[in-house]
This record gives sequence, structure tokens and C-alpha cells, in this order.
Amino acid sequence: MTGGIAGVERFDSPGKGRGLRVTKAFKVGELLFSSPAYSYVLSMKERGSNCECCFTRKEGLARCGKCRKACYCNVKCQKADWAMHKLECSAMTAFGENWCPSEMARLVARILAKKKTQKERSASEKILLIEDIQSHEEDVDNEKREMTELDVAGLHRYFSKHLDLPDHKDLLTVFSQVACNGFTIEDDELSHMGTAIYPDVALINHSCLPSVIVTYNGTSAEIRAVKDMKPGDEVLISYIDLLYPTDDRNNRLRESYYFTCECQECKSKSKDKVKLKVRKQSDPIEQDVINNMVRYARKTIREFRALKTMCEQSLEEMGAIFDDSNVYMLHMMYQAMGVCLYMQDPDRAIAYGEKIIKFYNKLYPPYSLNVSSLYLKLGRLYMLMDRHSVGISALKKAMAIMEVAHGKDHFYLKELRKEMAQK
Ligand SMILES: [Zn+2]
Ligand SMILES: [Zn+2]
Ligand SMILES: [Zn+2]
Repeated sequence: MTGGIAGVERFDSPGKGRGLRVTKAFKVGELLFSSPAYSYVLSMKERGSNCECCFTRKEGLARCGKCRKACYCNVKCQKADWAMHKLECSAMTAFGENWCPSEMARLVARILAKKKTQKERSASEKILLIEDIQSHEEDVDNEKREMTELDVAGLHRYFSKHLDLPDHKDLLTVFSQVACNGFTIEDDELSHMGTAIYPDVALINHSCLPSVIVTYNGTSAEIRAVKDMKPGDEVLISYIDLLYPTDDRNNRLRESYYFTCECQECKSKSKDKVKLKVRKQSDPIEQDVINNMVRYARKTIREFRALKTMCEQSLEEMGAIFDDSNVYMLHMMYQAMGVCLYMQDPDRAIAYGEKIIKFYNKLYPPYSLNVSSLYLKLGRLYMLMDRHSVGISALKKAMAIMEVAHGKDHFYLKELRKEMAQK
């Protein structure tokens, strides 16, 4: 094994396959190692507020002169990112508003491009090569397979002009590798900034009682001890949200990572009692009733998660045939906007709203409550995002319609005038 990282080594973890362990003691808070990303991509929703190269969030970033979309701290960042940005720069301009590959497809394009140019072991592969990360392809079910096929189609559609793509089978492998080894880069409020792949970090196994935590410094991952560790201790991170009770955690682990956790917490279930506590009533609630409510809650949560993905996928599929002015597209975008609002993603909601309103204006009669209500929604969203002048302009357009439809003295208009004067 060449390279390596001081203080840690690869080993065969009993019952888990390969893993990582420390070769010296680490105290709580001590850095085990940091790893640059093999490949990473900034989320579309962060575009404009963060540097595409180093993820720094600040005002006054400079735009790429060609696409006028990607933003950078300075020329140095722009140059450093060009090898990756060139995969998207001219394609974005060519596709215009129809450019909408998934974040997964964008990351895979970057990984493929890097594999082509990078012939030596990179600084993110000191203990594990990108080729050797697990793919779990044999475990993938039909539903997941279908989603991957969509991503592969997206990759062909948006990237094949600037990238020679490997055959279908190899693409499926890369997508499954990224699906179970990709890391979400989050900011301090845990909001999603981008996705990255770190081969060395991917070697770390899961535990619900983790010994380390991964944080991000720019696009690099940093692994720090959250327990005192002695030589020989396994390095363990948590792959999932640890809030949930044992059964939920393990369902999640099996679904996304294809294994069941056997850590001490999963055996003792010490916190499950509080996590699943029910109300005290004079007649104790029957176990059947509780079980049914748990099933109901899980189903509801799953459905909400799936909703956003479903909207985006159906838009992608329909968008290959239907133009944005097509009423079925408009209907789906309207639904997607609602979901984004519910999921507190105002930027995305605005992006959908802007697309829809363009065609609403053409397709509805001059005075329509559908149009005014959408202008109201958009206007309020802009105001929420401190985009004052566009906000006022949208609210004025709503007002012009409402003055005709509701009459100038209507309560709604009085309120709206107050709202606009406030800001
Ligand atoms: Zn930068
Ligand atoms: Zn560009
Ligand atoms: Zn566990």
C-alpha cells in the first residue's frame, strides 16, 4: 500500500468487511485527518451566492464571462475550476432554461472527467482508490434502478457533447458507487451546499455510537474524534440521522446502505423508550393502536420526502418532449412550486414561479385570478428573500388585476397596499 495517512490504517473489521482504525491515541476534538474531495459539485440553488470552486459564501462574487452563471471569488478560483466547469459552461448556454441535470448526474460527469485526466493516485485516495469504493450494485432494487436510469439519461442528454461516456454498465456502477458513498456538504445550519466524493472517508464504517464526526472546510472533509480513542479502535461515523429509534435507523441503513447495524445502541435500544413514548391516558393505549400510528407516521414522512423527487423527475421526463409552455408542464411546475414552498426552499419555488408566470400571462385571459395569485405568491417570496424591487413589481402586477377583479376598495387590496408600504 502506497501513501497512507499518519495515525490511521485500513483493516478488516469483524463482520463489516474493510474499515479504518487508529494506530495512535486521539482525544475528543482532535483531528484524525482531513481529505480533499476527489470530485465535488455546488448545488444549483447555491449558485450565485457561493464560489463554485471553494464554496466560499460572500457578496460580490465574479461571474464566468462565458455563461454568466457560475460565480467565483477571483481568477484563481475560476482557473482552478475550469476543468470541471467547462463540462457545463457552454452546455448551459445551449440548453438555456432546459438545462436541468440532477446533482448526481453533475457529480458523476465530474468524476468521469477527473478519472480521464488523473492518472496518479490523488490526495483523496491515500488509502482507498476511487475504483475500489463499494457499489452494492447487486442489492439495487427496481425502483432505484429506474431512478438511476433517469440519471444516466440525463448524463447523456446534458454532458455527452463534452465528455466521452463509458458504456451503460460502467455508468450504472459509478452511479451506485456515488449513491452509497457520496457525502452531502452542509453548512453550519446543516443546509445542503453540494455533493462530493471522498474515497478515503468512504472507507469509514457506520455506528449509531460514532467515534468521529465529519465536517467540511470549504470542499475538504475533516474527521475529528468525538470520543477518546486508543490505538486499534475502529473509526466510526454515523451515516444517518441518529434521532430515530432503532428499527427506523436500521430500515434506513438497509434501504440506502444495504446492511443492519449491530452497534451497542442497536442491541440495547437504550433510548427507544423515550423516542417512542406515548401519551399517558387513564386506560393505557393498546399496542396495536400504537403500532398502527407508527406505520401511519412512517408512511406520511416517506411520502413527503418522495414528493419533491417525484415532481423533479416527472418534470425531467415530460420536459424531454413537452415545451415549458405546455399546460401539463405548467401544471407540474405549479405543483413543484407548492412542494418547494412546503419544504422551505424559496429559491427553487421562485425559479418555478418565474417559469410559470411567463406562460400564464400568455395563456390566461388578461384578467385572471390564477395570474394575480401567482404574482402575489412570487412577490411575497421575493420580499422574503430581500429582493425588494422585483418583489414590489410583482405585487403591483397582482394589484393591477385585483383592482379590476376585486374592486379597488376590497379588503385584500387595502392589506396589499399596507404590505407594500411596510417594506
Ligand atoms: Zn473561491
Ligand atoms: Zn461558464
Ligand atoms: Zn447501530
